[in-house]
Amino acid sequence: MQNQEFEIDESLRPESRRLFERALRVIPGGVNSPVRAFRSVGGTPVYMHSGAGCRLRDVDGNEYIDFCNSWGPLLVGHRHPGILHALQDQLDRALSFGTPCEEEALLAELAVSRLHPRVPGVERIRFTSSGTEAVMSALRLARGFTGRNKIVKFAGCYHGHVDSMLVKAGSGLATLGTPDSAGVPAAFSGETIVLPLDDEEALDSAFLSHGDDIAAIIIEPVPANNGLLLQRPEFLQRLRTLSERAGALLIFDEVISGFRIGFGGAAERYGITPDLATYGKIIGGGMPVGAFAGRADIFQLLAPDGPVYQAGTLSGNPVAMSAGLAQLRLLTPDVYDRLESLGAQLQEGFESLALPWHMSRIDSIFWLYRGNEAPRRADQIDRDAMKVYAHLFHFMLARGIYLAPSGYEVGFLSTPMAEAEIDRLLDSLREFFQRN
Ligand code: PLP
Repeated sequence: MQNQEFEIDESLRPESRRLFERALRVIPGGVNSPVRAFRSVGGTPVYMHSGAGCRLRDVDGNEYIDFCNSWGPLLVGHRHPGILHALQDQLDRALSFGTPCEEEALLAELAVSRLHPRVPGVERIRFTSSGTEAVMSALRLARGFTGRNKIVKFAGCYHGHVDSMLVKAGSGLATLGTPDSAGVPAAFSGETIVLPLDDEEALDSAFLSHGDDIAAIIIEPVPANNGLLLQRPEFLQRLRTLSERAGALLIFDEVISGFRIGFGGAAERYGITPDLATYGKIIGGGMPVGAFAGRADIFQLLAPDGPVYQAGTLSGNPVAMSAGLAQLRLLTPDVYDRLESLGAQLQEGFESLALPWHMSRIDSIFWLYRGNEAPRRADQIDRDAMKVYAHLFHFMLARGIYLAPSGYEVGFLSTPMAEAEIDRLLDSLREFFQRN
């Protein structure tokens, strides 16, 4: 990390260092997903060995309370007995068949039967192996259904590493995007219109200029990949109105918010029914699963019923489906009420410290930001505060608290947590801000 003004003590983690050095020789950057490399906080990634409930143990034997939760999937914590039992039962039978299996039918049935009353558009669902694949497939389906090419996305929302989503805004509003990663052809990014969040005018003007060409608007209705940029409900409603008027589809990317802020995710919370929704993380119970879901008339177009192709060797894998099914079965209204009350305890406790920092939160997703007003757009985030976060991250690590290794990432609560874990986080935050 550049301009690092604090010492990072890694003396208690020699085995992590050793493993990272080995990995660096054969894995680019030593990691299989960039943010794990600690580039924005500095230092060596911590190699974890095991987890139980809300605790992690690293390969050197250090323990942490886990506020990262594998980036969101582990709503019920590590190694929940209900999930382990379901997995063991499946492991005793087979790892993969490449044929349909009972678990995929049961998970699809459970998801649709419990989502549909809350989000009436969810009539069909198909599983993939990642959120990226779910988004890629939903976009293709939207294009196939509308016969149009352009997709509207928002700066500050992440939708996985789909080529056409790795795009930044071009110059001026309502212009076509430019690649935000090497290797993405301009012809792909040219089909993406990147708009700022929280800006009805930009949205109206994009639909005025390109309305007839727009296949879909995609948004994280709870943007949680670039801070937690909670949106005004009216803005989200405007997306629904404009897309409907223009004959475009509305896609809610609920890879993070799905099943986390209630079973029906953001669609239920805001009372807005998207045409398609994408899921990931929690729906796999800690295994690699994504899903896209939506109206039956749209899904009629998907192979093998229709001409839009989509597939996967390990899609609907029985082990992954068993884990997802077990986790979703655990999600009762009481679970969400308890997570909300833990979240409220955390937020009230943090705000009572009366700092120039504040907490954005929706249920069990939280994010610390510096400034008086909660940012609603990516360009409103105080970038200099990220240097302080890097310091905070290492301070917390030394006190046995594992936060996400980037100030742009959110934190997650899980059901094994209790008031004691929240108090420990608050005490450490108080100590850090008193000293810095
Ligand atoms: N969409 C959102 C909102 C995400 O947060 C992510 C990943 O964090 C993805 C899509 C991509 O999911 P995956 O990493 O499983 O490919």
